[in-house]
Amino acid sequence: MDNSNALPLVLLAEQFAKLPGIGRKSAERLAYHVMSMSDEQVHEFAEALVNAHTKVHTCAICQNLTENELCYICSDPARDKSTICVVETPKDISAFERTREYKGVYHVLHGLISPIDNVTPDKLKIKELLARMNGDVSEVIMATNPTVEGEATAMYISKLIKPLGVKVTRLAFGLPVGGILEYADEITLYKALENRNEI
Ligand code: ZN
Repeated sequence: MDNSNALPLVLLAEQFAKLPGIGRKSAERLAYHVMSMSDEQVHEFAEALVNAHTKVHTCAICQNLTENELCYICSDPARDKSTICVVETPKDISAFERTREYKGVYHVLHGLISPIDNVTPDKLKIKELLARMNGDVSEVIMATNPTVEGEATAMYISKLIKPLGVKVTRLAFGLPVGGILEYADEITLYKALENRNEI
């Protein structure tokens, strides 16, 4: 955007361009769109942005995002606190909750170990997970994605937790329904083989 007469518009486009998945062209389009909004709409938008960022924080126990001290899952007495499902992001919790099958609680790592991206174990919520191993936990399910980073993270955490006498399990990842072996990547195939069931 080259409009020296409207510097605030240029600066707004620069802010949009910082968002994930928003290129320069899209950022300019969004900035121009804001110009077409009413004062009221713009205030609502700005307020929602600030409110979400100031009011939402991580749950004191599981690190899920919440407006309260504890998230709705940790504060639910009906949930089984002896089983912790470890996930990468808060979005993964929504996926498991949609199945309506899981009755345990969660722990959000907020990332995966990835030396290439400079994400070391200390940058994840691993010590918060270890702090939960107080004798009441009997099983930790490693539910990180079956990627190189997801596997490395699952292995790293399992090595820390197993010596504490807590059972550590891993999700059984199979081939996608309708998948063809030839096109499956090696991790999927390896996992499918490893978790094979007797028929
Ligand atoms: Zn929680």
